[in-house]
Amino acid sequence: MPIYEYICEKCGNVFETIVTSSSSSDVIVCKKCGSSDVKKKMSSFSCGGSSKSTPLGGGLSSCSPRGGFS
Ligand SMILES: [Zn+2]
Repeated sequence: MPIYEYICEKCGNVFETIVTSSSSSDVIVCKKCGSSDVKKKMSSFSCGGSSKSTPLGGGLSSCSPRGGFS
């Protein structure tokens, strides 16, 4: 079972949740403040990881859109 990391947009709490196969419609809530305003973090994939720089300038990939403004 995959474990997903979520970050709360409200209090900034980061927590992990085990997601079962049929729970895609479940509402994930922050375990700290109970807010459902959480964002899933991609922990398994090194998308946007800065440990290696891509030689072909893939810095502007669509992996991590920074449109977090609201
Ligand atoms: Zn929270």
